[in-house]
Amino acid sequence: MTDNPAEVVRYRTEGPVAVVTMNRPRYRNAQNSAMTYALDDAFYRAAEDPAVKVVVLAGAGDHFSAGHDIGTPDRDIDQTFPRRAGLWWDHVGRPGAESRFAREEEVYLGMCRRWRDLPKPTIAMVQGACVAGGLMLAWVCDLIVAAQDAFFADPVVRMGIPGVEYFAHPMVMGPRFAKEFLFLGERIDAQRARELGMVNRVVPRADLEPEVMALAGRIAAMPALGLALAKKAVNQVEDVMGLQTGIDSAFGLHQLAHAHNAEVGADSLAGHDARTMRDAQRDGTPGS
Ligand code: ZN
Repeated sequence: MTDNPAEVVRYRTEGPVAVVTMNRPRYRNAQNSAMTYALDDAFYRAAEDPAVKVVVLAGAGDHFSAGHDIGTPDRDIDQTFPRRAGLWWDHVGRPGAESRFAREEEVYLGMCRRWRDLPKPTIAMVQGACVAGGLMLAWVCDLIVAAQDAFFADPVVRMGIPGVEYFAHPMVMGPRFAKEFLFLGERIDAQRARELGMVNRVVPRADLEPEVMALAGRIAAMPALGLALAKKAVNQVEDVMGLQTGIDSAFGLHQLAHAHNAEVGADSLAGHDARTMRDAQRDGTPGS
């Protein structure tokens, strides 16, 4: 069954809070380009609406997001979408690494950077899987509130790739643990993520939405400009600490890995798809 593109992302407001919901629960909210651009529409709408003070990013169903779409019937990597994150040319019809670089720069990295700087506080509301590309969406939010059933992993080293495109790992969990996280590719639970400073709060699954909405409501009582400037101040400090240049340098290595895979093997993902990655993670993670 294919998605109805109009429903790939849902948008609603509750008072001063906009709730943006990824809506491909059948595929654990795997992100295709249709979803990326629908998310961008939703964030832009929230940014423009003066009545919206805080934005919540959610995933419909049992999982926040299992990552980028690497195998659903609606995978759309060969489609053209109007570019917004940068002025690089369209990837469609371009050969080899050029196509991959152009697409990932726009659809993954560029969009995440764009959303990270949305001038209103954002809260990721995470349950279940928050894996690979799912991490990127949680990380670009200002706060992360996780249900006790949430788990986090970036298993792409198994593909020979040094982490997902938005390479914030050392910044969000510290360089020492970032290496373990990448080397093993195993899941960490919500409590561990909180101990690492990656997650603000962990709550029972049933309390996730009410807790997030209450938190959003308290933040929304603050002046909009004060919130925007506080956010920008912290983001600027992260940038001074090297977040953006680190991401740029890692993105080059990420593209090298894709190109190496394509050059020596079957494809840029070293022959993996969503199923083999999920199975490998199950096998490699005790108790999961
Ligand atoms: Zn990639």
